[in-house]
Amino acid sequence: MIDLRSDTVTRPGRAMLEQMMNAAVGDDVYGDDPTVNQLQEYAARLAGKEAALFLPSGTQANLVALLSHCQRGDEYIVGQQAHNYLFEAGGAAVLGSIQPQPIDAARDGTLPLDKVASVIKADDVHFARTRLLSLENTHNGKVLPQAYLRDAWQFTRERGLGLHMDGARLFNAIVEYGCELDEVARYCDSFTLCLSKGLGAPVGSLLLGNRDFIKRALRWRKMAGGGLRQAGILAAGGLWALQNNVARLADDHANAAWLAEALRETGADVTRQDTNMLFVRLPEGTAPQLGEFMARRDVLINAAPVTRLVTHIDVSRQQLETVVSHWRAFLRG
Ligand SMILES: *Cc1c(COP(=O)(O)O)cnc(C)c1O
Repeated sequence: MIDLRSDTVTRPGRAMLEQMMNAAVGDDVYGDDPTVNQLQEYAARLAGKEAALFLPSGTQANLVALLSHCQRGDEYIVGQQAHNYLFEAGGAAVLGSIQPQPIDAARDGTLPLDKVASVIKADDVHFARTRLLSLENTHNGKVLPQAYLRDAWQFTRERGLGLHMDGARLFNAIVEYGCELDEVARYCDSFTLCLSKGLGAPVGSLLLGNRDFIKRALRWRKMAGGGLRQAGILAAGGLWALQNNVARLADDHANAAWLAEALRETGADVTRQDTNMLFVRLPEGTAPQLGEFMARRDVLINAAPVTRLVTHIDVSRQQLETVVSHWRAFLRG
């Protein structure tokens, strides 16, 4: 199978599995799991943050972050297409009584700060209390400009807001910036990282911030059902991913750029490619046929009028060449 639906489909490789099998474990709800502790300390050091927390999913990490920043009746400003607004089942509102204030992102994935300023509520009984700006990096594959991160940080300091970054794919941005994690992490109060996307671990996300924040997050994680016991088995995979699979994300980006170019040469309408994602506009009404045509040839895609293709550790350049030849055959009819 060649699976281009997402970078969440990656499977742990042998070396990662061996590290998982050999992990020292304990009861993490008691704080006793040495491998979870090692992962959290390693990530915090890498990020230049005081503390980190291991959670089962990115969705829970975002929820716990919002609960730790905001009280009932508070509000967070967020992108219309942001994962922690659109794709997390309304968790912040349903479980936290936290009101989202969505705004449209600019083409580069940023939330323009003048637009953010225009939706900050006055201190008035009619309004929710605006508490937090939530950004996403990368956003649909787009790397937020580093200058924008600094400006947003400065802006939130001036306006008394917290700044959370959904960094599910932050390492894809780090690889593009060519800098270290702490050079970006310093421009937010808290951020998340997904270990189970391009980094290739089977399960897990991290939430990072200062010690007080992570202490609050620990209680919310327990309440959300995310307190795990011998979680070191999972944390070992995450640690292996952080130590071995970051730099190679550049290969995924190069593969996505190659695939975009090769598909364009077949006549496909590739609308854009950023980091490990590309988007192809299909001729009207052809999405279902393309999906079936590819599936019969062991290629999995989320066929849609604009189809997103995602490269990752488990697809090679050679496999992408196979995909291109199938695509050409499909277009030839
Ligand atoms: C995947 C993703 C998440 C959530 O991660 P899960 O582990 O699938 O819950 C959060 N934010 C962004 C931007 C994501 O792409």
